[in-house]
Amino acid sequence: MFTFGFSPKEQAKTHADEAAVRFCFLLINHSKEVFGVIRVRDILQSTFSLREIPAKFGSDGFPLLEESNPESLKVVVIGLANELTKVFGTSFAEAALERVVKQMEQSFTEEVLSASVLKIIPAGFLELRKIRTLSKEDLEREVEKKTAELRQVNEHLEEKVEGRTKELKGLLSDQERAAQLLVRRDFELTRANDRLKKLDEVKSNFISVVAHQLRTPLSGIKWTLNLLISGDLGQTSLEQKTFLLKAYESNDRMINLVNDMLGADRIESGKLRYNFQPVQLFDVVDNVLFEILPQANARSLKIVFDERPSDLPKVAADPERIRAVFQNLLDNAVKYSRPSGTILVGMRQSDPDTVLVHIKDDGIGIPKEQQKSIFTRFFRATNAVKAETDGSGLGLYIVKNIVERHSGKVWFESVEGSGVTFFFTVPIYKSDGISTPSMDSSDTVKVE
Ligand code: ADP
Repeated sequence: MFTFGFSPKEQAKTHADEAAVRFCFLLINHSKEVFGVIRVRDILQSTFSLREIPAKFGSDGFPLLEESNPESLKVVVIGLANELTKVFGTSFAEAALERVVKQMEQSFTEEVLSASVLKIIPAGFLELRKIRTLSKEDLEREVEKKTAELRQVNEHLEEKVEGRTKELKGLLSDQERAAQLLVRRDFELTRANDRLKKLDEVKSNFISVVAHQLRTPLSGIKWTLNLLISGDLGQTSLEQKTFLLKAYESNDRMINLVNDMLGADRIESGKLRYNFQPVQLFDVVDNVLFEILPQANARSLKIVFDERPSDLPKVAADPERIRAVFQNLLDNAVKYSRPSGTILVGMRQSDPDTVLVHIKDDGIGIPKEQQKSIFTRFFRATNAVKAETDGSGLGLYIVKNIVERHSGKVWFESVEGSGVTFFFTVPIYKSDGISTPSMDSSDTVKVE
């Protein structure tokens, strides 16, 4: 660098500028070894643009150091020192800067270094060196400044802590209030729940009393109508007989409804007792079909067995309850079939522990959007209500409860207008009790 023709003061300044430029040059070289040329170039360019400091760059993309002022040189050091810290940590960056300063010490005096190089090194780096270069007065001033800063920080800290403590106290009291509210709600809910349980019990008793009371007169009516229809009480005209038969059918439907209500009520109150034993499902289904055949014939329906293996194992079931399952599903298949339709019934062993039953009809089917509610108590699909006004919506609810009590599953597949296939499973009877449904104290098992 040129030093001729300058006054001593100017010479010192020139030395300082030269030292700062030299320092940046060495630091850039050192960084190139660590990060590679391209990355160092990118770091410098992005630091300048981020800080919005104008700078001149050479054709190689690096800042023209000789033409930079101290402000720009500082940006160079900040960019590289920050990147070294980010990638390798503070100590590494500190050591790198220290190494370059040491290198500089060979060519520049301590005064020149402190007047230039240390001025462009960002705060937090080479602090010891910076302090060493301060005069006693500067040092005292610096200490005073730092003490004032600390005091300020301290004051703010106290204010902040006070504020946060207040906030926390507020939160705590909110929480306490919420907890009290929760306890009160919990208490109220428990009371409401108890009240509902009592109401439910009353309702359940009411239903079972009414249903039982209805059953006796309905049976009486059935008996009387039977006598009239059979002619035991004297001859009736054809027209009278037709009306009597209609009354008989309505009465029968009423009996079925009352039975459904009693069945559902028993399920809900847990009064339904199960008597699990080895059962041959063919015997059960044959018996139900025998009863249902007149209804099916009246609608010209065909009921066909499409799967009836002769070696079907016995299942562990309560014969009365499993009969109710077949009865409800076959009743529905008949009820919701179109005249001259076909109902397919089948059963087979689906795995070592299970018998799978299916009952398929080609009737009105179940609308897709209503399929999820089909096992819900009292639910009847809109197309079913239109096609058949009679129905309680309790049959499938009872079916599901019974099948599940047998540790089985019930489900269906349906396309509206094309029919429904109901499936259910029952566990195979095992003499060692494995795979047999669990039994509570009211259940008993008869072994053959
Ligand atoms: P319901 O007394 O109405 O037949 P269920 O509980 O037995 O009561 O059946 C509930 C509803 O499920 C019926 O109302 C009907 O919408 C639908 N459903 C049941 N079985 C069939 C079927 N085989 N075909 C079409 N819809 C059916």
